Formats: sequence, structure tokens, C-alpha cells
Amino acid sequence: MSELTGHLIDGFGRVVTDLRVSLIDKCNLRCTYCMPAEGLPWLRPNELLTDEEMVRLVRVAVGLGVRTIRLTGGEPLVRASVPELIARLTALSPRPELSATTNGLLLARQAKALARAGLDRVNVSLDTLRPDRFAALTRRDRHHDVVAGLRAAADAGLTPVKVNSVLMRGVNDDEAVALLSWCLERGYQLRFIEQMPLDPQHGWDRAEMVTADEILAALRAEYELAADPTRGSAPAEVFRVLAGPGLPAGTTARVGVIASVTRPFCASCDRMRLTADGQLRNCLFAREESDLRTPLRSGASDQQLAERMMAAIAGKRAGHGIGEPDFVQPARPMSAIGG
Ligand code: SAM
Ligand code: SF4
Repeated sequence: MSELTGHLIDGFGRVVTDLRVSLIDKCNLRCTYCMPAEGLPWLRPNELLTDEEMVRLVRVAVGLGVRTIRLTGGEPLVRASVPELIARLTALSPRPELSATTNGLLLARQAKALARAGLDRVNVSLDTLRPDRFAALTRRDRHHDVVAGLRAAADAGLTPVKVNSVLMRGVNDDEAVALLSWCLERGYQLRFIEQMPLDPQHGWDRAEMVTADEILAALRAEYELAADPTRGSAPAEVFRVLAGPGLPAGTTARVGVIASVTRPFCASCDRMRLTADGQLRNCLFAREESDLRTPLRSGASDQQLAERMMAAIAGKRAGHGIGEPDFVQPARPMSAIGG
């Protein structure tokens, strides 16, 4: 590839260095807050980017300064070609740091192959420690697979293994301490994520969501926490766990809270998203997408694709605007954008 000219910089001076790539919109779970029981209208095979197309777009993004890549979905590990894709993405120059967000169901089987292919680490989503609750929440009785997947990820060196949990009122909001204790015992880094208005049912209600303050108050009842100032552009506010249940003696650990709604971090946002059908989004909550698949399939050069990416980022809004009177939930749900 010839040298690309330009940077991914927006009108507020923020520079994009992180890319979330959705590998597929399908999923092998049906989390009630994310997908209806019957699934969603999936993308047709010819709408999905091929591996070749995905690698090309990521290569252009890397040429424009992207340094970290997160594979997501839907469930990224459902895409059969993930190991090959990982190998091709980590062969890019400069080599991007590569992680994946997964529900963990397939990790027990795939962790070793993914690590061998070059994957650096994983974030595994787990909202409850109770198998019965997990089955109700995800509509699949697969809690044991996630637990086994987490263990396999740690054994394969996909570390630090992070666990993502969304707490919902009356569903699992009594598990904050139990989840942290369980993660500390196993050496996993837990991050709580505030629930955002990205559900296909449009049922999200700000008054109902469990806030970062509530989560921290619940944790502080059992744990000694100290703010960790090394946040940078990372979405998680990180706290050092100094004492409390599950913490191995003589050690400290960390817990994160991603307060996307109550304490938005848009001012330091450094990311963009590529959907599985080749649309570039400059924000999770963007109302417009930039179609890269059409020019890609019509013979555009790398520099032309780069120009489209730069134009999409130039138009990035200052913030997501949740809570403002004119806020409109994006048409696509989280699973189709790539969470
Ligand atoms: N299937 C993979 C998984 O579950 O990790 C990757 C995609 S999933 C959409 C990514 C993350 O988004 C998960 O941790 C999930 O819990 C979270 N998520 C889904 N809907 C959400 C919402 N409305 N607000 C906040 N997080 C959400
Ligand atoms: Fe699937 Fe992840 Fe959505 Fe659950 S949160 S239904 S695992 S995409």
C-alpha cells in the first residue's frame, strides 16, 4: 500500500486511534436487553464484508493512525474465519494491538487458537454468577460455558482478562459485590457498564437505569477503593481495590466503571466503529453512517477510502447527547453497530 496522507481528526481536535470492528451481527445468546428471542433481521451474506474487505479497510485505518482494534459484534467468535482474520490483522504494519469483546461461549474451544493467531486479550461479558439468572437473562442455559471460557482465556494468556457486567434494576443489581469478589479471586478485571439506550425494543429508561454512583456505593459498603488517575482516553473510571472480599492477601487489584450515561467521556473519545456491513460510524450514537462498502466494491483506491474515513470523522459531534431534549436513539441496536 502506498503511504496514505492525512489523519483521523475531528472538528474538536480529537484524534481517532481506536477502531471497533463488528465481525458479524448474529449472536448465539439472546440477552433480553440486547436482542429479542427470535433474533433480529440479520444481514444477508452479500451485505457482510468479506475477510479481504475487512482487512483492507482496517489497513487503511491503520495507515491513518489507528493503533488499537477491538473485534466485536453480535458475537465475533461466531464468524468462522476469526483466527485467520486475527492473523491478517496482526500482520499489518505497524502492528495494531488487538482485543475482542465476546460473550465467552466459544472461548473454551477457541482461546488457544485465537492467542496463537495473535489476539492480545479479551473482554468477556458476564452479568450474573447465578446459572438460573443467566439462563433467564440470555435465554440460553450456558453459564458454565462462559465460566469455562474465562478460564481458557486466562490459561491461553489472553490477559489481562476483563469481565464486562451490565447491572439492571430488579434483575441483577444485587450482584455488584459478588461479581467483584468472584473476579478478584480469579484475577479477572471487572468493569461495570451503565446500560445505554441501544436496545432494539427502545425500552431504556434513564430513571430506571443503575447508575455508576449506585454501583460504587454498593461496592464501597464492602471494599476499600481508591481512585486511579491513569485514565487517559479509556472509557472506564478505574479504582484500585485495596481491601475487601476475594482480594488475595498482600495484593491490590482494579475495578472499572464505565459511566457512559451519567459521566460521559465524549471529550476524550478516540474511537470509531466499522459495522459488519462496511458502514463507518464516528460514534456509538451517531445518526448517520458513512458507507465504505459501496466505494470499496466499486474500485476506490486506498487514498479515496481514507478520504471518506477522514470526512466521516471530521463531522463527529461533540457528544452523544443522551439526556438532551433532541436526543434520538440510533436506528440500529447495539448488536448491529458493534458494542
Ligand atoms: N456479544 C459480545 C458480548 O456480549 O460481549 C459482543 C457484543 S455486545 C453488544 C458488547 C457489550 O455490550 C456486552 O458487554 C453487552 O453486555 C453490552 N451491551 C449490550 N447492550 C447494551 C446496552 N444497551 N447498554 C450497555 N451495554 C450494552
Ligand atoms: Fe449477544 Fe452480546 Fe447482545 Fe448478549 S450482549 S445478545 S451476547 S451481542
